[in-house]
Amino acid sequence: MSSKLEKNPTDYNLVEPEPEHCPGPESENAGKTDSCTGCANQQICESLPKGPDPDIPLITDNLSQIKHKVLVLSGKGGVGKSTFTTLLAWCLSADEEVEVGCMDLDICGPSMPRMLGCHQELVHQSNSGITPVYVADNLATMSIQYMLPDDDSAVIWRGSKKNALIKTFLKDVDWGDHIDYLIIDTPPGTSDEHITINKYLKDSVIDGALIVTTPQEVALLDVRKEIDFCRKAGINILGLVENMSGFVCPGCHNESKIFRATTGGGKSLCKELNIPFLGSVPLDPRIGKACDNGISFVDEYPDSPATDAILDIVEQLRDTLEDSK
Ligand code: SF4
Repeated sequence: MSSKLEKNPTDYNLVEPEPEHCPGPESENAGKTDSCTGCANQQICESLPKGPDPDIPLITDNLSQIKHKVLVLSGKGGVGKSTFTTLLAWCLSADEEVEVGCMDLDICGPSMPRMLGCHQELVHQSNSGITPVYVADNLATMSIQYMLPDDDSAVIWRGSKKNALIKTFLKDVDWGDHIDYLIIDTPPGTSDEHITINKYLKDSVIDGALIVTTPQEVALLDVRKEIDFCRKAGINILGLVENMSGFVCPGCHNESKIFRATTGGGKSLCKELNIPFLGSVPLDPRIGKACDNGISFVDEYPDSPATDAILDIVEQLRDTLEDSK
């Protein structure tokens, strides 16, 4: 049965949308904080069950066959995080022996399905759960895009609705008997989605986070916040990738700098904060073209300096993950 999103999975029967500083209707403090005073939902939230979320053991069980779980984070939008997530998924699944899952948690701006060439697919629901969309035999993906009536549909949701969908993705998607790598693409910044996924995966063991940035100071400022968030949330940082650090000329295929790193870029930030620097990926206009067409850039353009850089980063990441087990 095909599934289109018509109704939020869990809406708590609230009588109005949560206000801006809502602690979350499912939180311990629901109905009790200053934000709750005067909120029309206060009575409902106070009466909702509190305590450990009973779905966390179900999530842990559903993800128990997944060997490595990696979050992809960025401090700000526009640094190519989803693009890099997609490149990573293509590269890891290039080995037919390796099973890869790719989960798009950018609920308001899902772009991964188009980059993987499957944006018009719909997910299917069966007794074993939601079947993800398969891009290849060994590459499965899940995104809210597969539940929307069409490409242009906007998702205008606040905290609890997003949290409920994330829970559904983690608890009910049937990833099969074995996945080697689950790559989780998150929205930019440190928002509800990040806190929620960290909470739901607390017993599932995340290998860590990969942080994507560009070399400019304005992007690195936000990366510092992202790193601080990871440290406070207890998320291991697997490394930092500096994207768009140079430009590959479409004519001669030589590389030149376009975004000058005024403060030393990602490499010196990693040195300062003692996190691994995985490498720099130059901007090749053909990456955008490959993403628009939903094809693997590294397969299509093996001669690009960007391909060399991406493969090197993926190799380092794979080694880090394997060494950690
Ligand atoms: S009463 Fe409920 S909806 Fe309103 S702010 Fe508190 S937790 Fe959020």
